[in-house]
Amino acid sequence: MATIQPTPLELPGLTGKTVVVTGAARGQGFAEALVLLASGAQVIATDLAEECPPALTEAASTLSGELHYAALDVTNEAEWSALAALLQKEFTEVHGLVNNAGIPFRGRIGEIARADWDRVIAINLTGAMLGIQAISPLMRAGASIVNIGSSAGLNAHHTVAYTASKWALRGLTHVTATEFGPRGIRTNIVHPGYIETEMMAAAPAIMTDAQLALTPLERTGQPEEVAAVVAFLLSDSAAYVNGAEIPVDGGFTSSAGVKYMSDIIKASQQTK
Ligand code: NDP
Repeated sequence: MATIQPTPLELPGLTGKTVVVTGAARGQGFAEALVLLASGAQVIATDLAEECPPALTEAASTLSGELHYAALDVTNEAEWSALAALLQKEFTEVHGLVNNAGIPFRGRIGEIARADWDRVIAINLTGAMLGIQAISPLMRAGASIVNIGSSAGLNAHHTVAYTASKWALRGLTHVTATEFGPRGIRTNIVHPGYIETEMMAAAPAIMTDAQLALTPLERTGQPEEVAAVVAFLLSDSAAYVNGAEIPVDGGFTSSAGVKYMSDIIKASQQTK
């Protein structure tokens, strides 16, 4: 099946807006930074590396928005505070926060070590909470927070710490949407399915095959396909969308394994 080639999108209402993206050095965070820059936003890209990755600087150079970079470990409260202080000084107000940074860990319930569990929860869940605590005081009505969940947060994926972290991130999303709604700040969560990034490059081929067998669109996704939905949620076009969960997974979670059953039945009927 031919894969589509997503093109950079330009969304209205993002020009001049200040948006923080975590884990932006590569993968989906990188694509989210680019789509926002293409829409004229001022993007504060953050990641673990001390310096902005040259690929991001280069890709941003032709886009209308302004790129800024800050080193940030999302688990580090002091670094979040320092970033918030810097943003208050430089920009006064922040319009958007994308809690994108995340790590996979494929340990199962019977074998996972406590330290690995803690690390996954610290990055995938606590990191987002710290980001919301640090950045939301700089937000006014019209601002938008987008958390990056996972299809694993909608089902019983075997990667227990990762799955639990993403289910909990849904809880954080709904609480934030409820608490900050009266201030006019929206919070939503996007659930990517199998997206072609370095995170998945390490996945065993058998896992890719199994996922594709369960995905109605019968292909993997591209980072830009998630970034487009994130940008929509940050934009004024989504002004009444708050507390929503949006899967970007080719129908994987919607089908809930039924595609596999349907395909087997179809195949057995064809052999009769
Ligand atoms: P990548 O691994 O390609 O990129 C993740 C980025 O986050 C890396 O640049 C990584 O830096 C950075 N990062 C890791 N730990 C931290 C930290 N403590 N603080 C700040 N940055 C950190 O992943 P994806 O782009 O694929 O994933 C982005 C998000 O999407 C994640 O939340 C992931 O769970 C989610 N997701 C991904 C799916 C997929 O199929 N790819 C499916 C479902 C959800 P470094 O390289 O230095 O470690």
